[in-house]
Amino acid sequence: MSLTREMIISRLQDVTDPELHRDIISLNILNHVSVCDGYVRVRLEPRSQSSAARTQLQQAVEQAIRSLGDEVKQVNVEWEGNEGASASPAAAGASPAGQQQSGQQQTGGQAGAQAGGQGGQEQQGLPGVKHIIAVGAGKGGVGKSCVAVNVAVGLARRGYRVGVLDGDIYGPSLTTLLGLEGMQPQGHGRDKIEPFEVHGVKAMTLGQLVEPEKPLIWRGPMAHGAFRQLAMQTNWGELDYLIIDLPPGTGDVPLTMSQLLPLTGAVVVCTPQKVAQDDARRAVRMFAQLQIPVLGIVENMSYFIGDDGKEYDIFGRGGAQIMASEMGVPFLGVIPINMRLRANSDQGTPISNFEDDAKLGKEIEAVVQALEDQVAVHDMEASAPTLNVH
Ligand code: ADP
Repeated sequence: MSLTREMIISRLQDVTDPELHRDIISLNILNHVSVCDGYVRVRLEPRSQSSAARTQLQQAVEQAIRSLGDEVKQVNVEWEGNEGASASPAAAGASPAGQQQSGQQQTGGQAGAQAGGQGGQEQQGLPGVKHIIAVGAGKGGVGKSCVAVNVAVGLARRGYRVGVLDGDIYGPSLTTLLGLEGMQPQGHGRDKIEPFEVHGVKAMTLGQLVEPEKPLIWRGPMAHGAFRQLAMQTNWGELDYLIIDLPPGTGDVPLTMSQLLPLTGAVVVCTPQKVAQDDARRAVRMFAQLQIPVLGIVENMSYFIGDDGKEYDIFGRGGAQIMASEMGVPFLGVIPINMRLRANSDQGTPISNFEDDAKLGKEIEAVVQALEDQVAVHDMEASAPTLNVH
């Protein structure tokens, strides 16, 4: 049975405040509980407790949640107004832009805990950004970042104002894929940073803000803080689309993202093999759990065109399409294995994918078109009037 908020809240009924001598539910100090794929985040509302009592209570809450079993992978317990402050990187890392995360003020004190995922009251959104689309994958190496970048550039080529956010804070790759090496980040006002402007898109990545050789190992709250800073402190301005390249797999960055930003939806990238499909299914389910609509699946590395002009289905072309129809989510198209795409990615010149190879360009354009169509459907559904019949 998978871990749910209800299970956590029910277990927390047994946790008593050491100074106020009542359980934390009846004290109404449990402000927020969210859970995704075993990653749990809890926020408590401070009352009159001493700091020793707060530490004790924090530990008791963590222990109670961990007692729910192996399905609990990570627990973050924070105090309102002090979010992330207890966190430190697990190993040598760096905080983006050299800043410490600031405590987040909440109105707090609501009865019970709020749901994790889209629609949580924490969401602030990005004023000026019309559509936020996350690109995820069940596992690494399937070409998720490549697809995110090419979709972004493809949308920009259609005249949209587009940004790309490297949400893969554990392994940022936009520096390479967009050719940002040597570019210096520029500040904007006191606490904002200008995005880089390349190939018709605005871009921000942690890869440009920390030393390239340093390992990026974050504990949950630090990852939360890093993603938050990148998303919220970049001066995106007015955008039609912000594409977010997520870390591979499921985890707490998607959870943070869904709490922070109102997403139009997500795209899942998958290669055709059975094992890749299994991982992609998990990614689709994760978005569903976070109440983020899946706009569609892209089959990357679908087939290969040999020098003889023949198409070879190396990984079993069509596998992701079958999976999409089985799961009832739209299929956005295929991108072949292409040596130019690989070389253009390494060189940071994504525009060449649209210009050097007509077939590759057409396949990517078709994915972009299909995504645009899905967003239009989403917009229509969101603005559809409701009829009340009495
Ligand atoms: P992920 O984000 O899923 O980890 P990347 O987008 O970083 O994967 O891609 C991994 C590697 O595969 C990169 O070197 C990239 O250039 C290459 N690659 C991705 N898609 C293709 C493709 N369709 N054809 C050729 N190479 C590709």
